[in-house]
Amino acid sequence: MPLTVYNTLTRRKEPFVPLDPHHVRLYVCGPTVYDFAHIGNGRPYVIFDVLTRLLRHLYPKVTYARNITDIDDKIIVAAQKNKEEIFDLTRRTTDYFQEDMKAIGNSPPDIEPHATTHVKEMVSMIATLIEKEHAYEKDGHVLFSVRSFPSYGRLSRCQHDEMIAGARVEVAPYKRDPEDFVLWKPSEKGVPGWKSPWGYGRPGWHIECSAMSSKYLGETFDIHGGGQDLIFPHHENEIAQSQACFGPKTFARIWLHNGMLTVNGEKMSKSLGNFITVHQLLEKLPGEVIRLVLLSAHYRQPLDWNENTVFQCRQSLDRFYTALRGRDLSEKQPACETVKVALEDDLNTPLAISALHDLVTRLNKARNEKEKNKLASTLQASGEWLGLLQQNPERWFKGKTGIDENKIMELIEARTQARKEKNFLEADSIRDELLKTGVLLEDTPEGTLWRQQ
Ligand SMILES: [Zn+2]
Repeated sequence: MPLTVYNTLTRRKEPFVPLDPHHVRLYVCGPTVYDFAHIGNGRPYVIFDVLTRLLRHLYPKVTYARNITDIDDKIIVAAQKNKEEIFDLTRRTTDYFQEDMKAIGNSPPDIEPHATTHVKEMVSMIATLIEKEHAYEKDGHVLFSVRSFPSYGRLSRCQHDEMIAGARVEVAPYKRDPEDFVLWKPSEKGVPGWKSPWGYGRPGWHIECSAMSSKYLGETFDIHGGGQDLIFPHHENEIAQSQACFGPKTFARIWLHNGMLTVNGEKMSKSLGNFITVHQLLEKLPGEVIRLVLLSAHYRQPLDWNENTVFQCRQSLDRFYTALRGRDLSEKQPACETVKVALEDDLNTPLAISALHDLVTRLNKARNEKEKNKLASTLQASGEWLGLLQQNPERWFKGKTGIDENKIMELIEARTQARKEKNFLEADSIRDELLKTGVLLEDTPEGTLWRQQ
């Protein structure tokens, strides 16, 4: 079955036909690096990582670009608040972001351009927009004239009045129309800036993505992704700038947007005290649990982060890794067809996950070892399409806490000895002692295995 995806531009599911069947190109808006990524930010990066994995299975070459926004007013404010240099803040936050994304199983994008090293490209686009009368300069600011681009609003389907309200525009003396948006703004002394034909200043956020995506993926490319909260104004503005600059041709052909994440049924916000960062979660949860939670709902649906879902996902992973544990996985198998078909149907991850469970059920019912090993290999190969089940099952069960593995092995040995001597009192006391430290023993025909509780 061919891949179909829901395109926000047309509001329907469409077969995916790349511009170049040998080379698929996609762009996803990256983080603004002033603070840790919260769990809602993590969701699109996991979803588009799964999409990229799928595309890599289906097409010979895929280029995935995701930017780092390292110049922004939020960054300037945060650096002032922390009393630190902007560069120190952005570098530290970028490092954390990359580590956290890796820990939740995301492969790095092929290209990760930083906004601050692409100002030249932004200035050149802005100059073209002024030349083509889609932008104007006033008091060191350059604004995009929304009125000059008649198809503005096509992606978000916003009416003119809504746009004004939605943009929450301040009445600024340098704007011709309230909905016009900033391409360039002046930088005061002590604030990062670059020389430009309009004076010392810095780019607006929207132009960054237009300049970097066209540089690395071309003026027209296949897929642009991000959270639904970016549809308006950010993505609407990206389309306006890019098409006004490069001619009437299409910018991104397909737009994919993921639904929002709530925490215990409420919108996440610092003031509600329910703001969770990926970094904090990783202190108490394996990255793979976080990833499974983020894939547990269809990407276009809202997703609620709560203890119950976290618990269920942890149990699912225990079940998957129990099926893989002790199996001979050396004979590779292709992924299960149901997982492939589910993902090709607009990334139906809940269906793909239930197909993993079906595989485990079949494995548990299989009569011989050969069949069990084969199904385990299929399970592992299918998990890879979702970025799951790629670690050694022993690693999964033993986790990465500060438990002294040698000490545990010694105690298990002593317990085995005690059992041989029929000293069950001693054997049970060793088991209980280990349990107190969170280590659970499991007696199997192959000997005693342990795992973290
Ligand atoms: Zn963007």
